[in-house]
Amino acid sequence: MLLTKFKEGVLEVLFPKVCTVCGLKLSTNENFVCTVCLKDKFEEAYRGGKQASSDILLPEGISLQHALWNFDKGGHLQELLHQLKYNRLIGVGEDVGRQLGKSLLGNPLFVNGIKNKKALLLPVPLHKKKRRMRGYNQAFHIAKGVAEVTNLHIVRQETVIRTKNTSTQTGFSLEKRRKNISGAFQVQNPEAIEDAVCIVIDDVFTTGATTFELASKLKKAGCKEIMIATVAQA
Ligand SMILES: [Zn+2]
Repeated sequence: MLLTKFKEGVLEVLFPKVCTVCGLKLSTNENFVCTVCLKDKFEEAYRGGKQASSDILLPEGISLQHALWNFDKGGHLQELLHQLKYNRLIGVGEDVGRQLGKSLLGNPLFVNGIKNKKALLLPVPLHKKKRRMRGYNQAFHIAKGVAEVTNLHIVRQETVIRTKNTSTQTGFSLEKRRKNISGAFQVQNPEAIEDAVCIVIDDVFTTGATTFELASKLKKAGCKEIMIATVAQA
């Protein structure tokens, strides 16, 4: 016990925990990103209406498309999400997830939309091969942060699965993205989401190809309504 404490103390002096974004030392109540960065380093996405993206038509059944921050190409947010996705910094997901949860609670469309309803968080599933390779699903860790703040439950990971292992969609046209993702998801346990408001959680919202495909499957499986909540808006 004493030795563990001593080791921790030494590690703390040798390798102080620093903020992933600004590199300054973190205080004990901070995890990966410091409070100052969470407040000031990112630009809030527009949230005056039912969608954060101005140029995309939301398909029927999707009542809200909420994003926390605007994607700053090449900037802090891109770097942060990269750390989460490829460098195993899963705690970053929980940090930004908590922030996303707070911003959802500040959106009346969200608060009124889930009132007196069964509402569930559904991280966009990863194909099992990809999950095995990466070791985790980054969307799940974002959802964990959202769950902590909103007190909503996360749908069990086997309820909806990804049956198609798609390659990266970056650089694809919208049509190609849609074709690529078509039929990629399968609801294995419709009872779990029946009549629920499903809040689909992902890291970035770009064209909506992935989340819209998932939403249409959820709707067919009996979901009452779908909301999309992402950390970034591209
Ligand atoms: Zn910082």
